[in-house]
Order: sequence, then structure tokens, then C-alpha cells
Amino acid sequence: LELNLVPIFHGKDDFGGVLLVLQDVSAIRRLERMRSEFVANVSHELKTPVAAVKGFAETLLGGAVDDPEHARAFLQIIYDESDRLNRLIGDILELSKVESRRVPLQFSPIELSTFVARTVELVAPEAARKGIALSVEASPGLYVEADEDRLRQILMNLLTNGINYTPEGGKVSITAEPLWTGGRAAEEGDDYEQIRIRITDTGIGIPKKDLPRIFERFYRVDKARSRSSGGTGLGLSIVKHLVELHKGTIAVESEVGVGSTFILELPVLH
Ligand code: ADP
Repeated sequence: LELNLVPIFHGKDDFGGVLLVLQDVSAIRRLERMRSEFVANVSHELKTPVAAVKGFAETLLGGAVDDPEHARAFLQIIYDESDRLNRLIGDILELSKVESRRVPLQFSPIELSTFVARTVELVAPEAARKGIALSVEASPGLYVEADEDRLRQILMNLLTNGINYTPEGGKVSITAEPLWTGGRAAEEGDDYEQIRIRITDTGIGIPKKDLPRIFERFYRVDKARSRSSGGTGLGLSIVKHLVELHKGTIAVESEVGVGSTFILELPVLH
């Protein structure tokens, strides 16, 4: 709580009293703290790849450039770290846009079974490289009103995570079904008001204690693992904001060593 005293004058010299203003500033302070934590996190995340680029460039300049075998390896590191920097900057900009709601969404009706199948095609090469089987199950004729690019971004992100956090030979599947607001699955001929999309993997899973935090910015269960798969730690927080911009919800269920399921529920109309 913050206490402020405001003098009150009726006329020029006519002192009328003092107004006591008691203000709850905890919400403001909390926001300020979150903001400065975010800036600190961003700086830290950006510094790591920049330090690597600088360090290896220095080593090259210091003579390693004349040793072709090492020079090549160092250049590869510089290239990879610049790539990572690029991804980070892109995700930071994207997050700041979706957080401040500065994203104009273009809603249009989308037929889900075709849309989901096409989106899965986009991650198929990556899954094939890791020997991960993909499966799609969506009843045809299911429509949702959404921003096509943003919905694709949401699904791509969740599918890519599924592939990244699943060992070779595993499985990632996606299903889409109509839902009644009450929660039961719609029956033939029913009108549905919501759809539910589930993305399930047979991957490493997420420990119980981390589950409530994985949608936070830069939160990663295993930093090294996220890093080696090219993660920025921002994907899920971007996804959560995009889902909320669609007035939907996202939840996660997971068991370590068994796998994870991300459950997306979207209203059909806006
Ligand atoms: P990242 O870029 O690190 O993947 P995300 O925001 O997409 O960042 O996810 C945050 C963290 O949540 C990840 O680092 C990982 O620890 C965990 N995570 C996300 N998706 C999965 C999944 N399908 N299986 C296991 N862990 C996951």
C-alpha cells in the first residue's frame, strides 16, 4: 500500500484540508518486477550466442583461420549461433506483439480435417528424420472460425515440440473433435460450439512440478535439451497468447517417460 497526502485548497490561500490517498500498488509493482525480470532474461539469452560468435571470431582472427580443419568447425559454430540469435530475436518480437495484443487477427472459417492434415505435412520431414510416426484423426466437415496463419503457428509449435521431445521411434498424433460446451463429445447431428484438438506424444514427458510453469517465458525443464533441439523457451508462451486471442484455452497432461498431451479448446464462432 502507498499513502499519499494531497492538500486541498478552496480558494487561492484558503487551505481546506488534506486528502489521504491509499493506493494498492502491489499489482503495479508486480508488473514492474515482471517487466524487469523479462528484460534481464532477454539480455542473458541474447548474450550467450553473441559471446560465442565473438569468441570464435576472435580465435579465427588470432590465427585459427590458417588451420582449415579448425577454421571450418569454428565457422560452423558462428553460423549456428547466429541462426539461434535470429530465432531468439524473432520469438522475442513475436511474443511482445502477441502480449500487447498488437496482432490483427483475420478470422475465416476453416475446415479442420484438411487444415490439420496439411499442417502435419509441414512437420513430416522432421518427423521422418527422427523416425517418428505421425498420425492424424479429424472428422471431416468440422469447421472453426480462426486466423489461419495463427492457428497453423499454434499447431506447428505443438507438433514440433512433440517431435523434439520424443525419442527416435516414438509417435506424435493429433486429433480434432467437436465438443459441447458442457464438455461431452457431440453426437451425430448435434450442433457444436467448441472444438477440441489434442496433440499427444510418446516422449520424455514433463515432471509434475514443472507442469504449471511451462507456459512461462523462457521456462524450460531441461535447458541443455531445449537448446540442442533449437528451442528458445518462448514457443509455449507465444502459443498460449495466440490461443487466448482466439478466446480458447490450452492445457497439458503429462507423465515422465510416457508422454505428453496438449489439449486445445477453441470456440467455433467469435
Ligand atoms: P522450447 O523452445 O524450449 O521448446 P517451449 O516454450 O516450446 O520452449 O516449451 C517450454 C518447455 O516445456 C520446453 O523447454 C520443455 O522442457 C517443455 N516441453 C514443451 N513441450 C514438451 C513436450 N511435448 N514434451 C516434453 N516437454 C515439453
